[in-house]
Amino acid sequence: MNAIIPQSFGPAPTPLIPDSAPFTPAQRAWLNGFLAGLYGGAAAAGNASSAPPPPTAPAEDFPWHDPALELDDRLKLAEGRPLERRLMAAMAQLDCGQCGYVCQSYAEALASGAETSAALCVPGAKATQKALKAMLGEAPAAPKPAAAAPVAKAGRAIRFVSAARLTGEGSAKDVRHVVFDLADSGLTYEPGDSLSLAVENDPALVDAVLAELHATDDALREELLRRRDIARPLDRTLDLLAGVARHAPHAAMLRRLADGEDGAEPGDADLLDLLRAFPSARPPVVDLVASLPALKPRLYSIASSPLACPGRVELCVGVVRDNRRGRLRDGVASCHLAFRASPDAPLTAQMQVSHFRLPADPATPVIMVGPGTGIAPFRAFLQHREAIGAKGRSWLFFGEQRGATDFLFREEIEAWKVKGTLSRLSLAWSRDGATKVYVQHRMQEDAADLWRWLQDGAHFYVCGDASRMAKDVDAALRGIAQSEGGMNADQARDWIVALARQGRYQRDVY
Ligand code: NAP
Repeated sequence: MNAIIPQSFGPAPTPLIPDSAPFTPAQRAWLNGFLAGLYGGAAAAGNASSAPPPPTAPAEDFPWHDPALELDDRLKLAEGRPLERRLMAAMAQLDCGQCGYVCQSYAEALASGAETSAALCVPGAKATQKALKAMLGEAPAAPKPAAAAPVAKAGRAIRFVSAARLTGEGSAKDVRHVVFDLADSGLTYEPGDSLSLAVENDPALVDAVLAELHATDDALREELLRRRDIARPLDRTLDLLAGVARHAPHAAMLRRLADGEDGAEPGDADLLDLLRAFPSARPPVVDLVASLPALKPRLYSIASSPLACPGRVELCVGVVRDNRRGRLRDGVASCHLAFRASPDAPLTAQMQVSHFRLPADPATPVIMVGPGTGIAPFRAFLQHREAIGAKGRSWLFFGEQRGATDFLFREEIEAWKVKGTLSRLSLAWSRDGATKVYVQHRMQEDAADLWRWLQDGAHFYVCGDASRMAKDVDAALRGIAQSEGGMNADQARDWIVALARQGRYQRDVY
């Protein structure tokens, strides 16, 4: 019988599967990676007590809960399950919080009738909405009367300090380093957590809506400013407008919009667009307001460590602003922070505890892939590792459009590289050369080293864009398991699933 042999002669060494063991190279690689993870990596040998705890089995299996799977595959995996689980499978599986829930609780709220809008899954977009509507149409949930906007869980007041621009002159992007003073808020956090911020609409946009409605009521203005989402009207608002439209073509177009028909105009309409496009549709203001969804808090991955920034919390925020139909469309929270927030007007916030965590043992190597604003939690991780003097190796993959203007937190990152807090730095500038270079291309170039780090027990983290980057990085990781680990596609998928179950493959994607 083949024994598991020690990798070194030090105390409590990381075991290795011997070459003579009856496993394929892929199985051996997987087992070695598993053992390295369990023992905290080669660098952590001798400290088995600080190895991460074995993963606990989930009470119920949600095999579709993987944002890398396509919608059809997710739905197939949920076939035969109760309605709330099939609805969950239609969500984008990001638990991003933009709907005000996580995927599971949004699905359960829809199935029970506590939530009536099937249009809240922002990353899932139209495809998710259509799938939800089809399932709810087959088994309609008991509708509940339209309630007032839910009162947000009690938050704490924090003080805005600054929102300095991180991107340089000439950049196509406006990315801000947002700093808050936690003062007496009592809020605490750890690297990897997120900040949930209560937001308010642009007062100029609210005033334009009120003007269309010929309304001047202060209480109504307050309701639209702080409690109602006026950027993404729901089907129930479209139905309400269609029902009262005095002009037949207005009613017909509003119904087409409500049905999500391709070509229905104005597409991507906000409330002001609808009021301007359909002047014959004017329901009682109280009904119109009741049809609007609640203005939900926005979640941001925290970009600071409390050890490096005591009493403060810092974010990395991309300002969302585009021009549609002759009007600037502002991201509610990002534009508030960039252009309107003031130290004199406290904001209401809560901490959102995350699963996204550094390894328990600071000697465990970490690989961090965070292009764009995805750098946020990795700045927090690196600040933290510097503060505690972590000995483990760290490797950062960062990418943006141009090196000269878009290297977010450049000075800090370069200083960490010099000091050794950061062992390796791989940069991908997508628009500096004739062809696009992305973070996954850098991973592929260094596939052998990356694979070795993983065999040494490294934890692999991804943060940033969910719909494109995270999928491509996941595919690159599978490719590396195949090219370097000798696995076939199925084995590579199983290996990634096992890595995630060990807590060694973590994603914070949005
Ligand atoms: P970002 O848009 O993710 O861009 C950061 C870097 O990633 C850029 O160099 C970008 O290159 C590159 N990139 C583009 N596609 C990629 C891919 N498939 N794989 C790897 N890298 C890729 O960063 P951000 O401005 O911080 O945006 C973050 C968030 O904004 C996203 O997560 C998303 O929520 C939202 N966003 C979404 C879209 C979308 O179409 N789904 C577009 C922009 C922003 P290039 O820009 O040169 O291609």
